[in-house]
Amino acid sequence: MSFSIQDVLDIGTKKLLSSSRPRLEAEMLLCHILDVDRTYLHTHYDQILNLKEFEEFLTLLNRINQYEPIEYITGRVSFYDWEFEIFPGVLIPRPETEILIEQCNKIIKNYKIGSVLELGVGSGVISISLAILNPNIQIIASDINPLALELTRRNIQKLSKIDKSLEERIVLHLGDILQDDDLFQKHCFEFWVSNPPYIANSYVLPKNVAYEPKEALFGGESGDEILKKIIQMANKHRIPYLACEIGWDQKQSMQKALKNFSIVEFYQDLSGLDRGFIAKNPIQDP
Ligand code: GLN
Repeated sequence: MSFSIQDVLDIGTKKLLSSSRPRLEAEMLLCHILDVDRTYLHTHYDQILNLKEFEEFLTLLNRINQYEPIEYITGRVSFYDWEFEIFPGVLIPRPETEILIEQCNKIIKNYKIGSVLELGVGSGVISISLAILNPNIQIIASDINPLALELTRRNIQKLSKIDKSLEERIVLHLGDILQDDDLFQKHCFEFWVSNPPYIANSYVLPKNVAYEPKEALFGGESGDEILKKIIQMANKHRIPYLACEIGWDQKQSMQKALKNFSIVEFYQDLSGLDRGFIAKNPIQDP
């Protein structure tokens, strides 16, 4: 028995019971197996798959039905205007973080920011997107996870075909900058951005999220501990602007933590939930 692209897409759409977008995920899997794009699938519905391709398709359907994120299987994730590489051990970028990019862009452009710090880069999508959108900025991209920095390095290389200066403008930094004033003494940052871990330790993760690295998700007992530490360090080192993604129920505690900042604005995600803030540190008299 032989199966065409059309047949296997229909089979996949029916079998992907765990997915909220079964047709799309079936297409993404098949693109991955055949190493083609979705347009190719749509223009070659009658092409017959060989047995190996068909069996691989069934295996990958099973993995998705066990809640393994499709991004880890295909090694690709779309973020903002670009496609990035992703692999297990590093957090998969979320669509809501694209709103953080918009917010950061406003600050960078309005205040002519030149030097940026990112804490917790993960796959590098925030630093890389901001660097592509703002050709004049320099970024120090830090993480405690060497795997994350390795992936960021690969993504910088991948996106260098769009902007050759990325490799020079994004400097990777391995370490816990919240425990160490060194970096702040060596560099004068104008803007600090972070999508840190902010989920409470006791929260039971959905099955698909449980595949992702815990240290990129859990922020402590109440979840906002790392956010509070970032705010405290930004205050201590007089970083003029700070932008962070937060959990939907953390606005109140952030308002309290940001009481020394002169301007604080919260933004919402597409579901209308509080998802982040931008804050300005008052300029201190010498
Ligand atoms: N928004 C992510 C989630 O809900 C959490 C990301 C984070 O902790 N920074 O899975």
